[in-house]
Order: sequence, then structure tokens, then C-alpha cells
Amino acid sequence: MPSSKTKVAIIGGGVAGLIVARHISSRPEDYSLTVFEQTNQVGGTWVYTDDTEYDKNGLPVHSSMYKNLRTNLPKEIMQIQDFPFKDQDGPSFVHHSTIRQYLQDYTQHFNLYPYIKLNTAVNYVEPETSATGQINWLITSKDLITKIEATKNFDVVILCNGHYTVGNIPRIRGQETFPGDCIHSHQYRVPDNFSGKRVCILGASWSGIDIALEVCKHAEKVYLSHNLTELLDTKMSDNIEHRPGINYIDGKTFHFRDGTSADIDNFIYCTGYKFTYPFMSDKVEIRTDDNHVEPVYKHLVHTDMPNLFFMGLPGLVIPFPMFHIQSQYILRILDGRIKLPSCEEMRLDYEREKSMLLQQGIPIRHIIKMKERQWDYYDEIAAAANVPSFPPVIKKIYDYSNKMRELDFMIYKNYQYKIVDKNNFTVRYCKPC
Ligand SMILES: Cc1cc2nc3c(=O)[nH]c(=O)nc-3n(C[C@H](O)[C@H](O)[C@H](O)COP(=O)(O)OP(=O)(O)OC[C@H]3O[C@@H](n4cnc5c(N)ncnc54)[C@H](O)[C@@H]3O)c2cc1C
Repeated sequence: MPSSKTKVAIIGGGVAGLIVARHISSRPEDYSLTVFEQTNQVGGTWVYTDDTEYDKNGLPVHSSMYKNLRTNLPKEIMQIQDFPFKDQDGPSFVHHSTIRQYLQDYTQHFNLYPYIKLNTAVNYVEPETSATGQINWLITSKDLITKIEATKNFDVVILCNGHYTVGNIPRIRGQETFPGDCIHSHQYRVPDNFSGKRVCILGASWSGIDIALEVCKHAEKVYLSHNLTELLDTKMSDNIEHRPGINYIDGKTFHFRDGTSADIDNFIYCTGYKFTYPFMSDKVEIRTDDNHVEPVYKHLVHTDMPNLFFMGLPGLVIPFPMFHIQSQYILRILDGRIKLPSCEEMRLDYEREKSMLLQQGIPIRHIIKMKERQWDYYDEIAAAANVPSFPPVIKKIYDYSNKMRELDFMIYKNYQYKIVDKNNFTVRYCKPC
């Protein structure tokens, strides 16, 4: 007899996939669940590897972690609401290996392994419309060990394939004439390779600054090239010089937009990543240019196909807790407890929000960077899902730690936070670990 359960496929066993799986699997009587994960373990980008090109399964390396990376959010606000970190007293900004362990513990705790197909890559996702107009999904996956391909039918697809793997490389005049070593931050692992070198790092967002601060301890000189005028006077280290964007490259000489130039040995692009859904059929409209994914309602639901969900789109957020709320929102949609508007209305709502942000002067590539907008978003989807949003202390710690970062990039990770109650926290300076 065919099962009456709703068949849900989750593509990706990183933190987003794990959190949705935890919520869907809490209702085994209603849902049958499969999580496809192409690597040999869960945790996604938090699974550090020395490799930079191909993984054990011959696929491009997924993780963008570097060896010494410590989180850029304090663990007190990074943790998932129903699964606190074991060590509540240790440092707030933890090494990436702590997060990987935390995610493996989460998987074990919520008994998710039985649903996860490791070493299984999704190669093709195709919608199939039935006579009644209902969309089903055919997912073709490949077991990377046995090399066997299989196609299965699902009622719901949740995309959790991450978006910090395919580097965005801007076009710069003359970049092909540069004779030195050139990598994207996705391939950066250790600073030792830059001993005595003159390094240009392009981009001063989270990775650009973090990597500059590591590399400068080994390099002769680091030129941090960016267009963030508010950063230009920030002192980071004696051998880091801020420069504006690169005008053009001529061999080993980089010409910056202020007319200055410098000879460079190594070049690191810290210029962000691209959203990609390479397995998706052309029958599904997904536009991903300009760091923006559309058409998506509430950053989660495909406006024309309400059984296709996107996790992890918003940036400048607290990702793990956000996934926790988003997952419950998805579950309530599947349950029918949240009634989505019609496809036309979802499209209109999405277009309305986009034009409002564009009118506010936010360029399309920054729409997804929520920062101040994130709190209203959490409250909105939490209210719709009838689950608690975050207590005020979470935003307070977020704002405080951001302010400390802006004041001093070198030491902000040495502060240790402790949540006292839903409104208050304490903070103290600790010796660097
Ligand atoms: C360098 C760096 C530092 C960061 N620091 C922080 C931080 O301090 N704090 C924080 O909260 N966030 C941080 N982030 C953001 C981080 O990406 C998110 O916290 C979170 O890991 C995103 O989870 P995800 O599940 O969406 O994606 P990922 O972790 O990328 O997981 C996606 C998974 O999908 C799998 N997959 C992809 N395609 C397929 C396919 N076709 N078939 C099967 N499986 C597939 C991948 O193998 C992977 O396991 C950082 C990100 C980077 C890159």
C-alpha cells in the first residue's frame, strides 16, 4: 500500500539541513524524510579539511573553513535554542572544530542519522505536474561509493546546499597578467604560506579582515584593498595598509583607484560567494545573479512552487537560531497550520518588498544582508509559526559584540559573554586562548 506520509527531501546535511531534519523527523507519523549529503559526514562548511580542490568523493571541496578560524559570533547567540553548547563557561568565540562537534552531537541527540544518506550527491531535481496540477519532485541522486544512481519521487524539497563554496571572482583589468599565486578565500587554509610575501587581499568583509589579521603575522606586507571608507583609518597592524579598489593589474604591479601602486607576490580574493543550484531543472525559475535569489517568499518559499523551500538565504544574521525558527515555519506550512497566500500574492509580496528596499537605496546584491532587518524578520516568521522569537538579550549581545568588533578587530574575540536572563548579559575580557 502506498504510504500516506508526506515524502520530504532535504538536500544538504549542513546545519540548515540538520535543523530542518530535526523538526520534520519529530513527526514520523506524518512525514517520511530523506536527507541527501554528498560528503562522508554532517556539518557542511564546518567540516574543516586541508584539501582545497577535491574531496574524498572526487567532488569539489565544500568547506571554506581555514585552520585557525574562530567563530565571528559568540556561541551564546550562535547556539540553537533547544540545544545549548555543553560548555557554557568557556570562551565565547570558539574554534571551528567545536562547532563541528556540536553539530555531530546535535545529529546524535535528535537521532537524525537514520534519515541521512551520506556520500550521496543530488544530481538532478525535476518537478512533475500531475493531472490535478499538484507538483511532485523527481530527485536523481548518486551513491558516490557504489556509483549507483537512483531517481525517487518526493512531495516536498528543501534546499540546504549552502552558499559558501563557489567563489565570486570580480573581473579586474589585467588580472590574467599576474604571475604570482592567486586564490579565493574558499581555498585559504593557513597563513604560513605567506611568509615574507607582499600580499594583496581584495575585500574587507568578515573573511577579508580575518584573513588579513592572520596573514600579516607572516607576510612582509598586506595591502587590504576595499571600498569601505569607514575602515580606511582603522589601524589593524603595522604591516597592513588599506588601499581602495584595484583599478588594474599589470604583471606583478597592482594599481589602486587612488593612483598608488604596489608590487604583489600573492593575491587573495575575499570577494564573497555565489548562490548555485546546479542540480535544479530549467523548469524551475530560480535567478541567482547579483548575489540574490528569486523569486522567494519570506526568504523561504518559491513563490510559484510552494512545496519548494530555500534555507540559509539571508546573510548578516544569526544563522543557527534563524534556521531553528525557519524550520518550524516550514513545518507549520506542511501541517497546514500556516496558510500560504496564493502564488500570485506571494509573487506580489516578494516584488513589493524588493522594490521597497531598492527604493531605500539598498542595491540588489545587498538585499539579502539583513543585519538590522533580521529582528523583525524573526519576529514575523516566529509569530506566523506560533513559536517564540528571541529574547531581547540576543540582540543586545549581537549589537554589543559587533560594536566591539568595529572598535578593535584584533581583540573583540577575547570577550566572553554570559546570558543572565532574557534581558541581561555580562561580558568580561579574557586572555587570548
Ligand atoms: C569561513 C566562514 C565562516 C563562518 N563563520 C560563521 C560564524 O562564526 N558563525 C555563524 O553562525 N556562521 C558562520 N558562517 C556561516 C555558515 O555558512 C553558516 O553558519 C552555516 O554553516 C550554513 O549552513 P548551511 O547548512 O546553509 O550550509 P553548509 O554548511 O554549506 O552545508 C551545505 C551542505 O550541503 C551539502 N551539499 C551541497 N550540494 C549537495 C548536493 N548536490 N547533494 C548532496 N549534498 C549537497 C554540502 O556537502 C554541505 O554538507 C561562516 C561561513 C564561512 C564560509
